[in-house]
Amino acid sequence: MSASRTAPRIAAVIGSPVAHSLSPAIHQAAFDAAEIPWTYTAFDIAPGQAHAALASMRLLRLAGLSVTMPHKSDVARLVDRLDPAARALDSVNTVSWDGNELVGSSTDGPGFVASLIDAGVDVQGARIAVIGAGGAARSVIDALGRAGVSDIIVVNRTRDRAEQAAALARAASVGMVRDVSRADVVVNATSVGMGVDVADAGPDDLPCDPALLRAGQVVADLVYHPLETAWMSAACAAGAHAVDGLGMLVHQAALQQEAWLGHRPDTAPMRAAALAELAAR
Ligand code: NAP
Repeated sequence: MSASRTAPRIAAVIGSPVAHSLSPAIHQAAFDAAEIPWTYTAFDIAPGQAHAALASMRLLRLAGLSVTMPHKSDVARLVDRLDPAARALDSVNTVSWDGNELVGSSTDGPGFVASLIDAGVDVQGARIAVIGAGGAARSVIDALGRAGVSDIIVVNRTRDRAEQAAALARAASVGMVRDVSRADVVVNATSVGMGVDVADAGPDDLPCDPALLRAGQVVADLVYHPLETAWMSAACAAGAHAVDGLGMLVHQAALQQEAWLGHRPDTAPMRAAALAELAAR
């Protein structure tokens, strides 16, 4: 449903902790750039209290919610309807209205696919290696499968989690670390490298041996803090094209706005706001 763009309304992210979320800066920048009189805020909702947040959304007719840790699977049980990705993942990062019903969707994976397309990747024709099998990796694998990618290799430290993640897409199978060298696109979907400056990074801050990377590959990181990770730096040193994790974050937010407003916003002011927020930290 597309909402009125002229009436002031409130949208928010719910999570805990949520104080460091970039979502308020990113979403508010899009509303302001499009002169939509909406306010975007953050609500710290304690674990186990997502039901109260959803009841408040219904009562206060909040325009939309972004959902982050630890509420993503609780919210999947609290909305009236789920989109196919949210149902497959048992995870919701977006709540929007369809008439009087609350719809839960998952825009993380589609946001990642959009960031690859932005980087000029022919997604369907690419052989993609995903390192990691946690929540973010699962969203990415599910979305790559839905986007029609024909060859997805899942590599993870814990093999049974890799098997569960690979089961999300028909094109996905569990691989070995050495498979990274034959992939066209290599994705770090682990948390390895998060919060580590390139200058301080050691081998443990990379998700695999960088000798497996080569020129001609696209090497993406889901980690966006720091913006340039040790993994991206290793990719550049190998002659590969590095894609940062901020693209996914911005595009998943743009897809949330599409769910709330019925149109996809310009992502340029959203990315600029995220960069300004990161620079201020
Ligand atoms: P998660 O569910 O906790 O999963 C963590 C993953 O990292 C698992 O596959 C885990 O392997 C692996 N891992 C952790 N430490 C490792 C190590 N030392 N060596 C090898 N593998 C290791 O986390 P998540 O929610 O998927 O998030 C992963 C990353 O993506 C985080 O940095 C997060 O900030 C980022 N993220 C970015 C976006 C974005 O928009 N750019 C969105 C969501 C998440 P095991 O299964 O073996 O434990």
